[in-house]
Amino acid sequence: MSAEFLFPPPPCPSVAVAQDVRRFPVRRIFCIALNYAAHAREMGKEPAKGGEPPVFFAKPADAVVESGASIPYPTLTSDLHHEIELVAALSRGGAEIPVEKALDCVFGYAAGIDLTRRDLQTAARNAGRPWDMSKGFDHSAPIGAIRPVAEIGHPARGRIALSVNGALRQEGDLGDLIWSVAEIIAALSRNVALAPGDLIFTGTPSGVGPLLAGDRAEGVVEHVGSVAVSIGK
Ligand code: MN
Repeated sequence: MSAEFLFPPPPCPSVAVAQDVRRFPVRRIFCIALNYAAHAREMGKEPAKGGEPPVFFAKPADAVVESGASIPYPTLTSDLHHEIELVAALSRGGAEIPVEKALDCVFGYAAGIDLTRRDLQTAARNAGRPWDMSKGFDHSAPIGAIRPVAEIGHPARGRIALSVNGALRQEGDLGDLIWSVAEIIAALSRNVALAPGDLIFTGTPSGVGPLLAGDRAEGVVEHVGSVAVSIGK
């Protein structure tokens, strides 16, 4: 017997797939913190690898925004920041995934922007409080079309950059990831079981900064694609 619901279940959030009419259904959105040394330093942190496991946080699945959309300037902040990131889109999952098998889970990659209410994050961090609301707010995950691994492989190097109103703000290289995509998947799968539909934002290079009402941010990840978002007034 199929389930009956009190009201219609919410629509499944999804992301475009390049040159495919089918869309990628989103289950969960995970993000890794401080995965480029230069960004860790600009946030006042020492880049860590070795003893310390990576730090993860999450956004709700319905935070995804189609590339090219205009979103409202978020509430409760006066310091909305852009973070351009390589996003891995999983079509397989599991728990305790070994690093050597981790890339088998990846369907494809996209360019995404981890929008952040930086003032809320800093205040929460300083107070030792959770910073969910600084990261997981409405419209906080603009993402471009996913390019399948079958087409582009697993990009280990390549320019990642973001400009605002045509002026370059962020620039780095995928080769500078502290934890690789495979290492991220392996570590994340020790925290929770991963599943098809999961998106993983893999961290941002240095140069994060504010977006103002009326701004247009455009990000690019070489060999992968682009993402754009406009901030409404
Ligand atoms: Mn980020």
